[in-house]
Amino acid sequence: MTIRKPLIAGNWKMNTTPQEGVALSQSICRIVDDADEVDVVLCPPFTSLIAVYSVVHHTTVMLGAQNVNQYPNGAYTGEVSVEMLRGLVSHVIVGHSERRQYYGETDQTVAAKASAVVNAEMTAIVCVGENDVERERRRAERYVRRQVRQGLTGVVNPSHVVIAYEPIWAIGTGVSATIGQIEYMAASIREEVCDVYDQDVADGMRVLYGGSTNASNIEQIVASPAVDGALVGGASLNDAEFSKMVSIMAESGAATR
Ligand code: PEP
Repeated sequence: MTIRKPLIAGNWKMNTTPQEGVALSQSICRIVDDADEVDVVLCPPFTSLIAVYSVVHHTTVMLGAQNVNQYPNGAYTGEVSVEMLRGLVSHVIVGHSERRQYYGETDQTVAAKASAVVNAEMTAIVCVGENDVERERRRAERYVRRQVRQGLTGVVNPSHVVIAYEPIWAIGTGVSATIGQIEYMAASIREEVCDVYDQDVADGMRVLYGGSTNASNIEQIVASPAVDGALVGGASLNDAEFSKMVSIMAESGAATR
């Protein structure tokens, strides 16, 4: 049997000054530092990474970036490379739907970024998920499978990849996907990963869910053996709510199976 350690990542998006990031991370660390049944990753904006690093680096809480450039260095004004993140973060979110939607990221750029992250021995949290039109037209599964396959092209070390299934219609809307929808898509994602790599890789790959998760619905979501954790947006900006989600996950079936 493959054991997949559950993971909860807080995506703070474009929120928090460095001072606010320190206060939020201090408060979260105070409550969840001993939650070693769950990997907890905080993903502040780039400008808060160093400040938050100073809070979390001697705790079990890990640090992640929300994006990265696929190139190691050069004339890419405003961008940040994995080399610049090395030693600072252990995780990088890649291909978040907001990056795909507003900044034109394609499956090809996602694959290049994922490769850059895993080659630097960090973990890439690769986001996939359909919009409401794809779902209404019953093309969601095909759409997500394509994102998985193309987003993993050339990624040679898949043990450093986590996939986050985040249907766009569920992000920040207050409407989470149903357990049935999440389980169906998690199974399709795992099948696609098996096709790209092999069954062992598919069995070991952590598949998270993201989209309007909170302390009230997380227990039901992570109770499913198909779900290995959550990528949390809005609720991760509330120290009490996010810490409660961590505790619920630590006590849930996800942490003990
Ligand atoms: C996200 O930003 O990845 C996300 C899932 O947001 P929310 O939890 O607010 O829906």
